Amino acid sequence: MSNYKIAVVPGDGIGNEIVPQGLRVLEAVAKKHNFSIETEEFGWGAGYYLKHNQFMPDDGIEKLRAFDAVYFGSVGLPAVDDTLPAKDYTFKVRTHFNQYVNHRPVRTYPGVTRPIRSEKHIDFVIVRENNEGEFVQMGGQYLPDFENGMGIDTSVFTRKGIERVAHYAFKLARTRRNKVTHITKSNTLINSLSYWDRVIKEVAEQYPDVEHQQMYIDNSTAMFVLKPEQFDVVLTTNLFGDILSDLGGAVMGSLGLGGSGNINPEKEFPSMFEPIHGSAPDIAGQNIANPYGQIWSVALMLEHLGESEAANNIMEAIDKSTSSGVLTVDLGGKASTTDVADAVIANL
Ligand code: ATP
Ligand code: MG
Repeated sequence: MSNYKIAVVPGDGIGNEIVPQGLRVLEAVAKKHNFSIETEEFGWGAGYYLKHNQFMPDDGIEKLRAFDAVYFGSVGLPAVDDTLPAKDYTFKVRTHFNQYVNHRPVRTYPGVTRPIRSEKHIDFVIVRENNEGEFVQMGGQYLPDFENGMGIDTSVFTRKGIERVAHYAFKLARTRRNKVTHITKSNTLINSLSYWDRVIKEVAEQYPDVEHQQMYIDNSTAMFVLKPEQFDVVLTTNLFGDILSDLGGAVMGSLGLGGSGNINPEKEFPSMFEPIHGSAPDIAGQNIANPYGQIWSVALMLEHLGESEAANNIMEAIDKSTSSGVLTVDLGGKASTTDVADAVIANL
């Protein structure tokens, strides 16, 4: 019987409510599919920062290294300045563990009303470059005085960084509907993103069986709303992927519906699974947060660990739950956070 060691980092706000519900689903599905789970919880995040002046201890990364995966909620509290580099628990884990793919699926949930016109079935995956690009935090501020100041951020795209995430996207497309749409803005970001385009084009030639489409970010935001059914795998940069995945959440019907994986495809290090949304302090502590995205992240984690049947079982149980009307407040329903987990477990 396989045993998986999972590090659990609930983080702040609703993370402390939805992560435990995700773990209940994980325990239940493990029992059904004959594998076992060992968890250890780490109370890191913005709350930890208020006491210790850092988001996790100095040896935090070392502590996580021994696990098969990290199951994460989200970090952030209104009392903590979110431009503090120290805030970046996520940034640290993603880079130290070479989690260069952010895998963020978007799909139709049965029984959930969505705000877009298209009634067609939607099922695509945003593959967001997760380690470089616009998020490298290189730059500075020149402020002789505030009135005459200047702020600069530099984006860095390396050959290696572009190539590896592109290979992930094209391989993923082969397991799906054989199409990759790569999204940039190389007509204005003429240095970094035209280089990105050239490298992607070269990688695409190695996958002649996969259709390769190129789109600009401005047009793609419109297409997400008007014709989302055209997408299969969406390959994009760190910043564009960040923005498009919130849009993807909205297209599904709520930010609370999106699950994701920060993936190290080579499995040299643990990968980390989390919902696409933040800690939502505005609704924390009321047992009303939508846990579907956090529960979907369990399925993504199990898929990565090789437990595909258990992962599919969770997705089917989620579909049964939403289609029978188990919907939280953000979806126009009355179900509580715990009601949702109860329903998913009953439907496994
Ligand atoms: P981050 O910077 O960490 O991404 P954020 O500032 O983008 O965080 P979120 O925490 O994602 O903000 O919240 C944005 C809005 O979406 C809030 O109004 C929040 O209540 C709502 N929201 C987010 N997640 C959920 C959820 N799981 N269930 C219900 N509402 C949610
Ligand atoms: Mg956000």
